[in-house]
Amino acid sequence: MSQMNRKILANDFKAQWQDAGRDVEAAVRRVGESGWYILGKEVTAFESSLATFWGIDHAVGCGNGMDAIEISLRALGLQSGDKVLTTPLSAFATTLAILRSGGVPVFVDTDPHGLIDLQACRDLLQSDPSIRFFVPVHLFGFAMNLKKMEALRDDFGLRIVEDCAQAIGAQSAGRNVGSVGQMATTSFYPTKNLGAMGDGGALLTFDEDFARDARALRDYGQSAKYVHDRIGLNSRLDELQAAILNDAMLPRLHRWLQRRRTIAERYTEGIVNPHITLISPPKGSESVWHLFPVLIESARDLFLTHLQSHGITGGIHYPGLITDQQAIPPESCIIHGDLQNAKSLCLREASLPIHPYLSDEDVEHVINICNQWTP
Ligand SMILES: *Cc1c(COP(=O)(O)O)cnc(C)c1O
Repeated sequence: MSQMNRKILANDFKAQWQDAGRDVEAAVRRVGESGWYILGKEVTAFESSLATFWGIDHAVGCGNGMDAIEISLRALGLQSGDKVLTTPLSAFATTLAILRSGGVPVFVDTDPHGLIDLQACRDLLQSDPSIRFFVPVHLFGFAMNLKKMEALRDDFGLRIVEDCAQAIGAQSAGRNVGSVGQMATTSFYPTKNLGAMGDGGALLTFDEDFARDARALRDYGQSAKYVHDRIGLNSRLDELQAAILNDAMLPRLHRWLQRRRTIAERYTEGIVNPHITLISPPKGSESVWHLFPVLIESARDLFLTHLQSHGITGGIHYPGLITDQQAIPPESCIIHGDLQNAKSLCLREASLPIHPYLSDEDVEHVINICNQWTP
């Protein structure tokens, strides 16, 4: 197919099916033949593979990435009214999980990489010692600086849930994201770097007690069959999704991440246009490029139309701040400062396609179309 006609999508699930469909079919058949659909050996096997992949002792499968954050905060002992430091620039689910667990989000501005500004966090924690919880987000697949995060944890006794929904496999100076927080969470929403064929999520922890509490919380708060010690959720990973993830998706993850990195390198060297600024990952980040964010200094909508007219689907992450959403009443959260960096990013950011099934030709086409653009 000529490059003119080929559509370059933000995600290509049909190409993924071509590649992985047979493994998926085998996994589905095995679950069907087993006659066991909820919390059985498939979930246990996948949790064990995921924990090994991540290098964290315990993994607990959940219904989705948002619930994994709520369950994590509650397993860490969050009480209603507790303040939770977090970023205004993320999927809405990050903040929604904090609110649902009874926390009060405290928003701090982002840094030049689009990640919550750890120095601003330090300043705020110094002036408000009542903040004990922190939900940082490794946005775009960039790894936040874990050394600085660790220093914050230790200096202020923070309980941290690292939201790794966009960053599975990313490293900061050789350490895995998720290894500084008492909890790491991720999502298997289909577009994520490790996606299921439906909803799913997981939390990971080195702490056996937190893992046990999380297992109870995801299953109606049951500590044993018909014994309910706490108000829990119904948020279990399905046997079907666990089997698909374990057989068809996780074994491909390393290759997928490599491909994303190769494409990011090509974009980084190939896109040379004074009207397009690349957003760089922080120093020391071995990124996994869930998204490839750029800044369009003016006329972003026209840029996205330009891409679309050449068959390329771009995106915006995100068009507004979490604090601007109607669902968040001002009295339910605390906004620290003017969030100027995050606001400016919302106005200028555009995301280029970077899924692992892009061909080399596709990648060169995106680069050419970017380089042709003038506002
Ligand atoms: C996708 C995402 C979530 C939510 O995950 P779901 O599985 O859709 O609930 C949370 N945080 C971030 C940063 C995400 O990208």
